[in-house]
Amino acid sequence: MKPLRTNGESRTLSLDGQEVVIGHVYESDKPNHFMSKATLNRLGLKLATNQLPVAFTYNARARQYWLYDQSQAVPKRKLSAKQWTALEKARQVAMTCRGCGQFVGYPIKICEGCSRKRRVAEIEAETKLFFERLEQAKIMAIAWAKGVLADSRAVILNSRATGLDLASEVIQLAIIKVDGSVLMNQLIKPQASISNEAESAQPTWPELHDPICHLLQAASVVIIYNVELETRLLAQTAKRYNLALPQFQTNCAMEFYAEYYGEWSDYYNAFRWQKLMGGHSAMADCVATLELIREMAGITISTTLRVENP
Ligand SMILES: [Zn+2]
Repeated sequence: MKPLRTNGESRTLSLDGQEVVIGHVYESDKPNHFMSKATLNRLGLKLATNQLPVAFTYNARARQYWLYDQSQAVPKRKLSAKQWTALEKARQVAMTCRGCGQFVGYPIKICEGCSRKRRVAEIEAETKLFFERLEQAKIMAIAWAKGVLADSRAVILNSRATGLDLASEVIQLAIIKVDGSVLMNQLIKPQASISNEAESAQPTWPELHDPICHLLQAASVVIIYNVELETRLLAQTAKRYNLALPQFQTNCAMEFYAEYYGEWSDYYNAFRWQKLMGGHSAMADCVATLELIREMAGITISTTLRVENP
């Protein structure tokens, strides 16, 4: 056996007060049983107690490492039966669905089937919540309608205008109480001429302004089908004459009826407004609004409206 080539370097290690000199060997020359700690580890071996290196060498990146004699190394401690059982159990658990407990054979949290079931359950819960909210909205709307009908100072207002734009003028105004009695049913002569009927109408807005304001302010609440549109038309008509409407309490029958009707619009993320099946006059729309409120309150008998011009 030819001698191991060395560059002549040595290291001195101390063991139990004894100094041991360890010599260098070239990496390419080291015998097969000269192994690094990492190699021993890969082979399931570890250093014996007080096992010293037999040599040292340098790797390709000029890093020094120790070489040990494989024959002196000892096997790494084996896992006890109990440890094996625990390890195997953990492996099984990691490969078992947490939903149904089914063993799938590869690491998983939840199986396909359970994942699908969960999604279905989520959708069902959302749907249930949605219908509960729908039902809740309807209950609220019914309560509102009942409250309105019990309020002797609540009034319903509707108007007709020359159009719907910012220049449009109110040419008909009706206000009724919730018992159907008529407080106002008036044709109004507009500033701008539009038709013979409107032309011949009397009086003009300024002549009616005070009584209108009085009715609005005397009411506990003014119920309007589409509050936003109607109040704008009223305000812009008054403004033509440099008059202003007073503050008054409003409720939008259109919004309450939409909640009662319960047609949900995903697009608007709101209840869809329903068209008022009124007639061709402000008074007919007031009556139609009252009918809707009565429908919401569950009153099915026909209304006994005292609808006549005061
Ligand atoms: Zn499962």
